[in-house]
Amino acid sequence: MFDYLIVGAGFAGSILAERLASQSDKKILIVDTRNHIGGNAYDHYNEDGILVHKYGPHIFHTNSRDVFEYLSRFTEWRQYEHRVLASVDGQLVPMPINLDTINKLYGLNLTAFELTEFFASVAEPKEQIRTSEDVVVNKVGRELYEKFFRNYTIKQWGIDPSDLDKSVTARVPTRTNRDDRYFTDTYQAMPLHGYTRMFEKLLAHPNIKIMLNTDYREIQDVIPYKEMIYTGPVDGYFDYRYGKLPYRSLEFKHETLNEQVHQPQAVINYPNEHLYTRVTEFKYLTGQEHQKTSLVYEYPRAEGDPYYPVPRPENAELYKQYKALADATPNVHFVGRLATYKYYNMDQVVAQALSLYAQLAERPSWHPEE
Ligand code: FAD
Ligand code: UDP
Repeated sequence: MFDYLIVGAGFAGSILAERLASQSDKKILIVDTRNHIGGNAYDHYNEDGILVHKYGPHIFHTNSRDVFEYLSRFTEWRQYEHRVLASVDGQLVPMPINLDTINKLYGLNLTAFELTEFFASVAEPKEQIRTSEDVVVNKVGRELYEKFFRNYTIKQWGIDPSDLDKSVTARVPTRTNRDDRYFTDTYQAMPLHGYTRMFEKLLAHPNIKIMLNTDYREIQDVIPYKEMIYTGPVDGYFDYRYGKLPYRSLEFKHETLNEQVHQPQAVINYPNEHLYTRVTEFKYLTGQEHQKTSLVYEYPRAEGDPYYPVPRPENAELYKQYKALADATPNVHFVGRLATYKYYNMDQVVAQALSLYAQLAERPSWHPEE
């Protein structure tokens, strides 16, 4: 008898497995439909021996000391600050928009102070900021919105930014200084030996059994367990009773080139050209030295593996209905990006999983002697 059947071996499932096994001596079976652990953060050496992220670039960043210290038990780190260029009007310019972006784009020589005035002169102030369009035009006006955000967002999400919650484009700041880092979090680093190695360590406890290539539905009636932790799509768990929750998908095209370096920065975003949104060159992320270089192109898709919950009001309403069902389902705990329908970064999923573990461990039923 297993204490827990854990569905999904990504961050959410693997961290709960680790905590429950090592801190509470629970017996765990963790299953995943894929043929590997790590969920969307899975990385591997490709046939040329280059470390690549199968499901697109994963850059770790967090402001949470607890999250960073927790993961540090399972990996060493390589310091890494992520930088991105956007291809706009025939030039490659820093993204997020900063002082150098504007000076290069318009051939100007503004100071930070003058840039603040420039943004104020072009901004369209909004009384209420609701959508992903509002966020950007309110800060930098329509022209920059059109050049950097509108088409990228339509490509990525299949809908206009005015139909997407403000939280989506609000992920990308605007700066008046020359800071060209994509993130400003306190902790920014990549697992020194890759994500998959970190997951192997998370799951190395003798109380944890791993079953790959397996949908939990194939085994849930034949393998006894007491409680379930579910990290797959929440609507799927309930057989789409209220209809499908929209998730956006991607197709990843991987390529290896016979040259040491291909592009001038880790990621180039293409808001207005091509069918892909961005191109990542992995060696920048991993620091690997190799005669060849590997890249991935991201093509947004309506169908395919669910990668991104789509933040907009009607989807939030539909999720509320599923959340009510989830809350009323005894002995099943829903956690992670798909099961809670949240556009979470890795560190947020780690925090959510650690917090669920704390809740489980505090339940009186775990401490009958008290
Ligand atoms: P997942 O990693 O999706 O794991 C869920 C697992 O459940 C999957 O492996 C799935 O196969 C399994 N599963 C589902 N249904 C079943 C079933 N019925 N039976 C068995 N198994 C099942 N975050 C960052 O912090 N930085 C980044 O740079 C970053 N880049 C990203 C780039 C892309 C293209 C994407 C899509 C995401 C990115 N993220 C990034 C987000 C990050 O991937 C997630 O926050 C994190 O991986 C979520 O972990 P999870 O455990 O919730 O879900
Ligand atoms: N975005 C954009 N242009 C860019 C970069 C981002 O319009 O050059 C918008 C787009 O809607 C994207 C969102 O901002 O989906 C969040 O960007 P982020 O880089 O955080 O996306 P992720 O890495 O999560 O795919």
